[in-house]
Amino acid sequence: MRRLLVAGNWKMNASKVMLNELLASIVENAPQQTDVVVFPPAPYLMAASDKLQGSAVKLGGQNINPNDSGAYTGEISASMMIDCGCEAVLVGHSERRTLYAETDADVLAKTEAALNAGLIPYVCIGETLAEREANQTEAVIEQQINAVLNGLNVQQLAKCVFAYEPVWAIGTGKTASPEQAQQVHAFIRGLLAAKDEKLALNSHVLYGGSVKADNAKELFAQQDIDGGLVGGASLKAEEFLGICNPV
Ligand code: PEP
Repeated sequence: MRRLLVAGNWKMNASKVMLNELLASIVENAPQQTDVVVFPPAPYLMAASDKLQGSAVKLGGQNINPNDSGAYTGEISASMMIDCGCEAVLVGHSERRTLYAETDADVLAKTEAALNAGLIPYVCIGETLAEREANQTEAVIEQQINAVLNGLNVQQLAKCVFAYEPVWAIGTGKTASPEQAQQVHAFIRGLLAAKDEKLALNSHVLYGGSVKADNAKELFAQQDIDGGLVGGASLKAEEFLGICNPV
């Protein structure tokens, strides 16, 4: 049985005041039946970890360097994230792929580094609008996920969370319809099953792309959608909590 999992990607949005207010509200009101993870920007991780002490809400980072330490000015390693109280990290977010030219090989290297340090990688995949319109959605998804499926063993993959995020739906207000999303999620689960049946059965595959309190229930009701990776709506307590407890 896969529990509902909702992850909030704050992107490059935070302040000390916001952190205190938002986390206080999430900690107090997060529903017990949902696993909740927040991904604040790196400078706030230690403060966030302190605020989340004793709560079931988990903490993640937004990006890691695949190396563990050394002369990489400005970078952060997976072991540092663990040290700061994280249990997860986003890998392969479309903004990293597009704005920072991250390749499938980078995504694999970061996923491996995360696993080696004991972090849960949230591996993000998704097609652009042009790719969807060219009927390339499945080919793109297959190539992106296979970079990870072919590079890791089943034990490693069992520790990953996958997130399908159509690029055209991220931050645009255009959500994939529940049917559109389910179609791709079923395809992803089929690719996981081709690797290992049990892996497919147990893996969380989240949907991301303009998830809101008023569309979460229908999306999460789909057979192969196990929760959401939420950007903009994770910055407002009421909206995020509505997604965590969709009615
Ligand atoms: C995201 O950044 O992963 C995301 C899904 O953003 P939004 O919810 O704002 O579309």
